[in-house]
Amino acid sequence: MCYAIPAKVIKIKGLIAIVDYFGEKRKILLDLDDIKVGDYVYAQGGILVRKIPQEEALIILEAWKDIFLELQKTDAALSQLDQSQFSQNALAVLQKVNLRKSLNQSEMKTLFELEDLQELSVLYEIANHVRQREHGNACCIHGIIEFSNYCTNNCYYCGIRKDSAIQRYRMDVNEVISVAKHAVDEYGFKALVLQSGEDYWYDEKKLVEVVKAIRAMGVLVFLSIGSRDQALYQKLYDVGARACLLRFETSNEALFDKLRPGTTLKDRVDLIKAIKKMGYVLATGFIIGLPGATLDDLINDILLTRYLMPDMYSFGPLIPTKGTPLANCPMVSKELVLKTIAVSRFVDSNANILVTTALETLEPGAKREGLMGGANSLMINVTPARYRDLYNIYDNKAGNEDSINNNIQKTLELLKSLGRAPTDLGVH
Ligand code: SAH
Ligand code: SF4
Repeated sequence: MCYAIPAKVIKIKGLIAIVDYFGEKRKILLDLDDIKVGDYVYAQGGILVRKIPQEEALIILEAWKDIFLELQKTDAALSQLDQSQFSQNALAVLQKVNLRKSLNQSEMKTLFELEDLQELSVLYEIANHVRQREHGNACCIHGIIEFSNYCTNNCYYCGIRKDSAIQRYRMDVNEVISVAKHAVDEYGFKALVLQSGEDYWYDEKKLVEVVKAIRAMGVLVFLSIGSRDQALYQKLYDVGARACLLRFETSNEALFDKLRPGTTLKDRVDLIKAIKKMGYVLATGFIIGLPGATLDDLINDILLTRYLMPDMYSFGPLIPTKGTPLANCPMVSKELVLKTIAVSRFVDSNANILVTTALETLEPGAKREGLMGGANSLMINVTPARYRDLYNIYDNKAGNEDSINNNIQKTLELLKSLGRAPTDLGVH
């Protein structure tokens, strides 16, 4: 099985290479020595992760060729536009989007305030059109391994917070490596997110061992381990980790202080900036619908995300979770999340926007709507079944009831029906 199409290197300039996918060009960073024009490679998150022999690449490309052209056609057909439905106000804002002008806060608000379902469906279509214009039919798929649910923090929203009375687990170093190997060998993943609570049992030595071993499998090592020291992140970069998911959660300082006791927004944002500066591919974002957050906060969340210049936007709805202080909060509407995807696509047109599992948890089928409304990447959980329910950052996580194979099949069918291909999105 294959979650990435090999690309051919057609030009090299310093550390940047231009690669080709059936005529589509992408810019990627060379992260391996010994690459020359004509080589076939896999890229993930804009980074070259593995060179593959020409014969192997040609066989895979042959198998993909017709499917790829078919996917391109489907995607183009699904990205057609009809703007006739709009009110004048919203139309004026969308004309700016068409002209690639940036939106101010009040224009973002105009879009968030749309309620008519017909208008909203056109809003999502336009976001999808912009996504298609910027990225073609590329869609990246990352595997995620939840390797420990121990956490020293007490974030109010999170089901694995320190004070949660839950059964804890932690894979040891060898187990993480063997789960990763299985995801790479059996399922074909080319990028793996390693996620955990803030678990200090995982010290530098253990994390270095994990990162080195997984990088050696020829995949992108993507960390999601919370607010650990900058020095640790630097060390892990040095041994091969290349991407990092760290959300700032909310741009509202008072809310942050309340919901993440003992930590500050400034420290979190400083760490995100430092990680970006180290060279990591950065995914960041926020939670939608935290109690007390206003529409202005949500708009600021989008703007702070853009300011941090991430390679990927990662945001999702709050899922109120039993045993947490936010257990009784109201559920966020699916429309608010879809509007956030669309508006993010408009304010940062070439962003990569992740559809999170939390959106699908809100309403089955919402993942498809997210992908049809401006989003262009997703993750598949490859945590072994015995741990999945224990990694309960929120309740009723979508996909937990299914086997990994089923989730993969369903995702591939979904992407096929939407005309999306697993080519890499490249760097900008
Ligand atoms: N401990 C790390 C990574 C694991 S948590 C960290 O905090 O960065 C990953 C993400 O899960 C968090 O960034 C948060 O945005 C999200 N999350 C936690 N609890 C949630 C909930 N109840 N609903 C929705 N998202 C939640
Ligand atoms: Fe820990 Fe992350 Fe959950 Fe906060 S969100 S309690 S840091 S796992």
